[in-house]
Amino acid sequence: MAFGVPIRSSSVRFPAICPFCEARKTTRWIRRRHSRLTGYYLFYFTYSTAKLQFPICTVCRSKALSLLWAGIAMVVTAALIPGEWKLAVEAPFFVLAGLALLAYRVWWLSKVIPIVLGNGDFLIVTRSLDYARQLATANDATFEPFMPATLT
Ligand SMILES: [Zn+2]
Repeated sequence: MAFGVPIRSSSVRFPAICPFCEARKTTRWIRRRHSRLTGYYLFYFTYSTAKLQFPICTVCRSKALSLLWAGIAMVVTAALIPGEWKLAVEAPFFVLAGLALLAYRVWWLSKVIPIVLGNGDFLIVTRSLDYARQLATANDATFEPFMPATLT
């Protein structure tokens, strides 16, 4: 279950609590990017990319960075294994472990997703009912269950 909170892009007010752990106060920022399809033609499509700075606590920010670098390091390590050892069990293990870390990171960060609405405002989608409620209160907005089909 996810919840959507519509927010005016000009004046976003975030709750003081970290949206990822919901335990610690936010002290840092993390960039979240979202692309939105704006047009579809025969051979190409256009899209707009929006970046939104999200508040995050120090611990969660370290976790996001650690997962990223550990995942990349494992895949790179597999690529650096000498040719005659490539088929040994280690190479596929490093690739799979690295990709698993990166996939987990994407899922974990998807707890809060900004979606750009047509008028430039954001719909912030979160899996946390509690955070949705706090975000809505801070912005004098209302939150509701998020259904992807309602976007179009
Ligand atoms: Zn946190």
